[in-house]
Amino acid sequence: MNVELNEKIPVVDSYDVIVAGVASALAIAREGKKVMLIEKNITLGGLATIGLINFFVPMCNGRGTQIIKGMADEFLHLSTKHSWDNMPKEWQKGNPEKSDKTRLVAEYSPSILALEFTKILDDAGVKIMFDTVVTKPVMDGKHCKGLVVENKSGRQFYECKMVVDTTGDCDILRRGGVPTLLRKNYHFYRAYEANLKSCQKAIDSKDISKIYDNPKKKYNINLYGHGQPEEIPLYDGTDANDVNRYIISNQKEVLDGISNDDRFAREIITLPSMVQFRTTRCIDGNHVFTEKDAYKHFDDSISAICDFDRRDYLYEVPYGTLVKDGFDNLITAGRSACASGYGWDVLRVIPPAIVTGQASGLACCQAIDDNLGIDKIDVKKLQDKLISQNVMIHFDDELIPKDIENSGQKFDVGHE
Ligand SMILES: Cc1cc2nc3c(=O)[nH]c(=O)nc-3n(C[C@H](O)[C@H](O)[C@H](O)COP(=O)(O)OP(=O)(O)OC[C@H]3O[C@@H](n4cnc5c(N)ncnc54)[C@H](O)[C@@H]3O)c2cc1C
Repeated sequence: MNVELNEKIPVVDSYDVIVAGVASALAIAREGKKVMLIEKNITLGGLATIGLINFFVPMCNGRGTQIIKGMADEFLHLSTKHSWDNMPKEWQKGNPEKSDKTRLVAEYSPSILALEFTKILDDAGVKIMFDTVVTKPVMDGKHCKGLVVENKSGRQFYECKMVVDTTGDCDILRRGGVPTLLRKNYHFYRAYEANLKSCQKAIDSKDISKIYDNPKKKYNINLYGHGQPEEIPLYDGTDANDVNRYIISNQKEVLDGISNDDRFAREIITLPSMVQFRTTRCIDGNHVFTEKDAYKHFDDSISAICDFDRRDYLYEVPYGTLVKDGFDNLITAGRSACASGYGWDVLRVIPPAIVTGQASGLACCQAIDDNLGIDKIDVKKLQDKLISQNVMIHFDDELIPKDIENSGQKFDVGHE
């Protein structure tokens, strides 16, 4: 049975671009375009903040050369500006010597980074709409006329020229008819606990980051699914019942884990406010990024990236991972860029997600200025813009190890 709703929705305003992600919104505002960022939570940053995934994976090749730059580098430093961090000392003052094997990473306070995001976007002139959910793109064939959103004021329509779907799950694009790909998720849930022991460690070391501990859990499942119990089916992140099964079972598991502890000796300081699924749905774009793309150059690359789990491995991200031919004003970025298998894991993590966000925002501005579809822009011109913003478009072949097969660290693709 279906219910048909026939209603008139007020048109509230018109924007050049509407987005759901920080990097693209900032890139667009800096180009002087009218941009609105819609966020269903009341805190910016998604998994990187309220999802408690507060760790920039390696942004270098593991031999002292930084690969992922541009806005990812800017946000890395923003994350450590007013927060504690553990960025290796060698990297704090620029590139370490080539011989150095310390990778460029940093853990940071998720809450402080979220506050930084609000400030930097508001200062740049982005209209931020918190506590607002995008429910539906209004389509004219394959062209999106704007978005229906819901918030305290009710159901409203915002007109726009371009949409960047950075919902992580490609929800907007899919509802607009763009083809998508799916992948399921393991049982993983991170919350933060503070206890007397961790507080003592923080006091002794004069390092507040030491207060963070993880509550005991029955299951410990790693990135590759090791430890996933047979009795727990994988989660479909695009199914509401599965999302709820994940939340309820994990919250009960955390409570079970702490229930026998001295209740005056520990506190759960943060529960995630987002479901911690790595890969749910991505665009079935013009290029499917896979592990086999390692060491390949692409004419339409929008950034070189590295592999967080293996030294030396280098890739380029084709613009085709963000768009689908025929859809002239819909683009994605972040963990819903088009990828499969281990390639999806390489592409979805925070630093690549930021640079694809930056590229998608700039692509929207270029498409508007040149009066071209987002699927038809001159990518060479976009690359020039990205280079001017310190993005490495193509990796240097000198960085490819002579003996590729034996140079990278072994990794375990478990589920692939
Ligand atoms: C368990 C786990 C561990 C990870 N570990 C690491 C790690 O150690 N290091 C690392 O670099 N990466 C890690 N990642 C990956 C990384 O966190 C994300 O892939 C990355 O942050 C990119 O996310 P995103 O911005 O594309 O999407 P998201 O972070 O999911 O952001 C989507 C945003 O859109 C908003 N939104 C969604 N739908 C709507 C809607 N309809 N209306 C309005 N707003 C909406 C959300 O609230 C959110 O703010 C991990 C991920 C997981 C799940």
